[in-house]
Amino acid sequence: MPTFAYILIVIAVLIVFQVVRMSRRASSHHFECPTCGKRFNVGAIQYMFTAHNFEGQCRVTCPGCGKTAMLPPLKGSIPGGTDGTAS
Ligand SMILES: [Zn+2]
Repeated sequence: MPTFAYILIVIAVLIVFQVVRMSRRASSHHFECPTCGKRFNVGAIQYMFTAHNFEGQCRVTCPGCGKTAMLPPLKGSIPGGTDGTAS
């Protein structure tokens, strides 16, 4: 097998691994808005493609007040999903 084919397979495996990891992480974490205090989840796709920094914070937009900020993911999911009836 040519070397580049081997490299492509390794990259594909890494991408799949990352997608699974991110979707698990998105479903087991939530964010808390520093402005209005609203707690909310983000979808796996949004979590994957949103900007991250080296501290693990994600650029997310609060569904309550619309403010976008770099927030650290907090452990635990919120029942009720992104609408976040919990306050
Ligand atoms: Zn907010």
